[in-house]
Amino acid sequence: MPELPEVEVVRRTLTKEITNKVIKQVDVFWPRIITYPDNQDEFKLGLEGQKIGKLGRKGKYLIIEIGQHHELVVHFRMTGKFKLLPPEERFQKHIHLFFHFQGEKEGLAYHDVRKFGDFFLVPKGDYRVIKGLYQAGIDPLDASFTYEQFHGLLKSRKRLVKALLLDQSVIAGLGNYLCDELLWFPGEQGVHPARLSHELNEREMKGMYHRMLDVIHQSIRLGGNSFRDFSYGNGIKGQFKQMLKVYAREGKPCFNCGTPIRRETVAGRSSHFCPACQPDSIS
Ligand SMILES: [Zn+2]
Repeated sequence: MPELPEVEVVRRTLTKEITNKVIKQVDVFWPRIITYPDNQDEFKLGLEGQKIGKLGRKGKYLIIEIGQHHELVVHFRMTGKFKLLPPEERFQKHIHLFFHFQGEKEGLAYHDVRKFGDFFLVPKGDYRVIKGLYQAGIDPLDASFTYEQFHGLLKSRKRLVKALLLDQSVIAGLGNYLCDELLWFPGEQGVHPARLSHELNEREMKGMYHRMLDVIHQSIRLGGNSFRDFSYGNGIKGQFKQMLKVYAREGKPCFNCGTPIRRETVAGRSSHFCPACQPDSIS
């Protein structure tokens, strides 16, 4: 599942590839990939003849300006990805949408093996039909997201740290790998995923905040964490996987202390941590 860094990498890649292109025609091969509007002709009519403007992002949502008054909002879910292709290659398996551009040799294909992705065409800034975006909390890369705010979000709630961090209505964009990584601190004691948010101390909260930003920036720089069959842009694989400290490292030695990394279900999700560096009670 792509998390904030992977969607940001897609945003940056597509910004170079499709900004200012004019959509000539849209082919819909799997209408159910369009969540809103219900009618695929309305979706096509709203896009055809329009110029692509700025590409934005909030949490795991990609937001593409369409002409002056609309936005195409995309959530990739499990396996969605975009790639530029010549129009004659658009009939491949797993391609559900194809955008033809005026005067261009290549169009934009949306490829999604599991078909869980969501497309919405909405009036600019009106996200009422996109529940997850309408209710989205603050994005970690939002310039206004300070440590004081992060501290307030944790202290005002009595929840398992892992559950709170995964809650998109509190902080938008963190998923399983980012959460596991940001709770492990290099060179010092980190935070167990099942700790309670309001019981964290200042050192722990500061550590999480800085680690969150470090991990996100590092992952974006390396093209994201390209696990399973997810790749971005035109098949470029993200390299962040090699930087993972705990996620997907069950049984391997902790980089701080050598203790085998443990995997346990916390808040319904498999969570990876070092039992020595991330004790489940404050020492
Ligand atoms: Zn350790």
